[in-house]
Amino acid sequence: MRSYLVAGNWKMHGSQARVSELLEGVLESAGAAESPVQVAVLPPFVYLAQAAQLLSGSNIALGAQDLCEQVGEGAFTGEVSAAMLADVGCRYVVVGHSERRAQYGESDELVAAKTAAALQAGLLPIVCVGETDAEREAGDTLAVVSRQLSAVLERLGPDELRGVVVAYEPVWAIGTGKTATPVQAQEVHAYLRALLAEHSEELAASTQLLYGGSVKAASAAELFAQPDIDGGLVGGASLDADEFSAICRAVS
Ligand code: PEP
Repeated sequence: MRSYLVAGNWKMHGSQARVSELLEGVLESAGAAESPVQVAVLPPFVYLAQAAQLLSGSNIALGAQDLCEQVGEGAFTGEVSAAMLADVGCRYVVVGHSERRAQYGESDELVAAKTAAALQAGLLPIVCVGETDAEREAGDTLAVVSRQLSAVLERLGPDELRGVVVAYEPVWAIGTGKTATPVQAQEVHAYLRALLAEHSEELAASTQLLYGGSVKAASAAELFAQPDIDGGLVGGASLDADEFSAICRAVS
């Protein structure tokens, strides 16, 4: 049986003061010990150590928004390795967010390499896939997410992929206020699970599939009630402790 995960992607937002304030709020309202949902926050790199300290002893997990595909140390100025993220207390790391694919030219192959580096260091990668508005209009949604996920599946075997999380994030829904309908999201999630099943039935049954794209407390319950949606990757709404906590509580 899969459990639920709700992860808050803070993107490039925050300051030391804001991190303390936001985490205080999240710990107060989403940190209930009996919660059936794994909650995670994903602050910018420079605030990870501070966040780790504030979250210490809580049941809220920490994650990063990206990592370097290179394993080990070396001359990679500006990069942060998977081992470093694990060292400061990260459990999760986002890989292949559409903003990185579109604005920093990350290819499917690079996303697969980053996924491999994360898993090798014991991190749980949250691999993002999703189509643009034009791709949906052209009827290419399933072909796009298939290409993106297949790059990862071709590089890593089912055993290596244990613990990987996949987030379906339609690009047209990210930061736009337009959420995929539960039916639209479920259709893609079911397709992604079937793709995983071609690789391994066990992997398909155990992999958490998150929906991301303008999730709000008001839309979360219906999305999370879909059979193949196992939680959410939340951007804008994760910067408001009350709204984020309400999304976490939307899991019935
Ligand atoms: C995201 O950036 O992963 C995201 C889902 O953002 P938002 O919730 O703001 O659409």
